[in-house]
Amino acid sequence: MPNDSIGHPGSGDGEYVVVARRYRPTTFDELIGQEHVATALSSAIATNRVGHAYLFTGARGVGKTSAARILAKALNCPTGPTATPCNTCEICQSVAAGEDVDVLEIDGASNRGIDEIRQLRQNAGVRPSRSRFKIYIIDEVHMLTKEAFNALLKTLEEPPEHVKFIFATTEPNKIPITILSRCQRFDFAGISISAIQQRLEQIATAEGVAADTDALALLARRAGGSMRDSQSLLEQLLSCGGQRMTVDAVCELLGTAPTARLQAIVVALVDADAAQALTQLDDAVQKGTEPAQLVDQLIHWYRDLMTVAVGCPAERLLSIPTTQFGQAQTLAEQLGIDTVLAALQILEQTAARMRQSLHPHTLAEMALVQIAQLENLENLQALLASLRSGESTPPATPSPRQAPKKNNVVTPDRSVASSSTPAPNPSASTPNASSTKASTSADGLPESIQFQGPLDEESVAKIWKHVIDNLGEMVADQAALSDRITVSGPNRLAVRFREKYTSCRQFCERVDQKARLEQALSIATGEPVTVTFETLADRVDREHAPTSRAGSLRQLQAEVVQRPFVRRALELFEVENPKVEAPVKPS
Ligand SMILES: [Zn+2]
Repeated sequence: MPNDSIGHPGSGDGEYVVVARRYRPTTFDELIGQEHVATALSSAIATNRVGHAYLFTGARGVGKTSAARILAKALNCPTGPTATPCNTCEICQSVAAGEDVDVLEIDGASNRGIDEIRQLRQNAGVRPSRSRFKIYIIDEVHMLTKEAFNALLKTLEEPPEHVKFIFATTEPNKIPITILSRCQRFDFAGISISAIQQRLEQIATAEGVAADTDALALLARRAGGSMRDSQSLLEQLLSCGGQRMTVDAVCELLGTAPTARLQAIVVALVDADAAQALTQLDDAVQKGTEPAQLVDQLIHWYRDLMTVAVGCPAERLLSIPTTQFGQAQTLAEQLGIDTVLAALQILEQTAARMRQSLHPHTLAEMALVQIAQLENLENLQALLASLRSGESTPPATPSPRQAPKKNNVVTPDRSVASSSTPAPNPSASTPNASSTKASTSADGLPESIQFQGPLDEESVAKIWKHVIDNLGEMVADQAALSDRITVSGPNRLAVRFREKYTSCRQFCERVDQKARLEQALSIATGEPVTVTFETLADRVDREHAPTSRAGSLRQLQAEVVQRPFVRRALELFEVENPKVEAPVKPS
């Protein structure tokens, strides 16, 4: 292990030993999180029913090798066989150090060939030199070749009395069934965050270092169920020196945004305050958090909100501190499960896109803006249901998210949005959007786009709508937020965005995205189409925004049905002519 020399001296016996090794469990009782394994093995030893071969499966760092060594000590300690080996005799100590002559630890990854296993078989025939059993611990056993497994099988079929095998693997599915059927299998569970945290607390105390509970909780969560990983992280913190382990120190080590930052972003998103969310994102990036990391953390937060929204207890939280369970409940209630799921989906897709993008920061910004604009979908569904049944009353209690929002009202382009613009050629009207949508393959032609006729002043609205409705790609969602579409020349479209949608415009302007849009438009018009993007002055918006709600109900109605999520909902409910009521004023 290259880490052995890092850090301050440890236990005082001269040589520094890494934390993970120094605090390795030495008895079945100390095997944290694997009580079922410890109990079963202890009882097998007590009742003298120890098998010839064991298979320990589970993720990395959950205690498989430690358990194997404890079992080996239990079998070979002169005081045994006993479930409680003495841990002080020479045999116990040499097994614990992985250096015993009769307990052979083999790395399956580097000894995977037939020759190594043949040698093992020969060696297994020889009696142990000083102990009861000759014990082979083969780690990562799934790495053995097929021939090596066959050779091993012969020994497993007729094992000498004095031989025991303990196999460990992270991938049991790669082990031949012939081998599996001759082993007693124990599945090691991932270790709970609270158990890891508790152990880290013990270690910090033993090391004489003060640590904030939240800091250790964060480490434990980050380790994702691996005790060893959590201790390696603790090791790094210890080697940084410092009087006290704080959340900030942990965040710096992990390159993650602190809890307070995530909270601020999520609250801004719930309040539909996109500007505030973007400010928080910038601050976080300036403090050294990568945008991708932040999106990843947000995924974990919304995952937690999802569990809260469906009624899970505080113990299910993985990222949100359990002390903030109450606040999480309030947020989840405000959002509603559908909105939480929609936000998760946006974040998930963003995370995937970010891996290939040259503009991860912009993608993160777009995700935040999109989430801030999500409506409460549960209320929306109720509204739609009432629309379908012909009732005129909208849902009685609008959620806080349905309260009028500042500055993020989507202003639709009437010439495009309004169904009152008659299509010049009714026979060629838009095909059923819901049936053709999403049939677009990732890199093939947008199959769902159909020929609509040549591009001119009259047809532009219909063609644009057809392309936006049927492209089924993110660029269409972004382009839908544009404000005005005009024909600026032969086969040329000018698409204008308001200033506040600059990030959408920038997305559409990306070479690949622009090409997709132009390709779709070309199919729809039968001619190569060029698109240019422009930004409208925001002046009009500012003048009109405060009065638009009270002043122009018609405009608001047109806006509402144009929002991407409303449109999706309308498709979902197969509503063709939705009736839109004025929003209920919060009292
Ligand atoms: Zn012993």
